[in-house]
Amino acid sequence: MTTDRAQLIDEEQRAPLAFSSLPAFVSDYLALIIQRRMDDGSHLWCPSWWAHPEAIARLAAMWRAFEYLRSDPAIGLSNWWLHHADPHLAVLLSPTGPFHACAQGHRSDAERLPLDRMPAGLMDDPVFTVLVGDPFAM
Ligand SMILES: [Zn+2]
Repeated sequence: MTTDRAQLIDEEQRAPLAFSSLPAFVSDYLALIIQRRMDDGSHLWCPSWWAHPEAIARLAAMWRAFEYLRSDPAIGLSNWWLHHADPHLAVLLSPTGPFHACAQGHRSDAERLPLDRMPAGLMDDPVFTVLVGDPFAM
């Protein structure tokens, strides 16, 4: 019961989102403030960013961190830039990043990480399963 009440209080006190969705965060914030040279191949962006799973994952992480950190008026946004935006943007905009094939427009021929079948019995080792369920159980 205490958990439900604490959750309710937390939800009531939580500031409304600055951006209601990931596409809104990208189009109404990132696209307006990020400026990089794109004509020399040093940085790449894909207008169809939503077609790249890694971009979705990284941008969603950036959005969530932004929404959380912006409530800290002292160092929240500096923290966001230095520890979230800069490293994610460095990967996203890299010529070897998820948009590497999209220099002339979106191309969906990105290669996924190759995976081999795991040897039988390997999942019996707790190192592969300890995080399932309780992430703090060790
Ligand atoms: Zn693309």
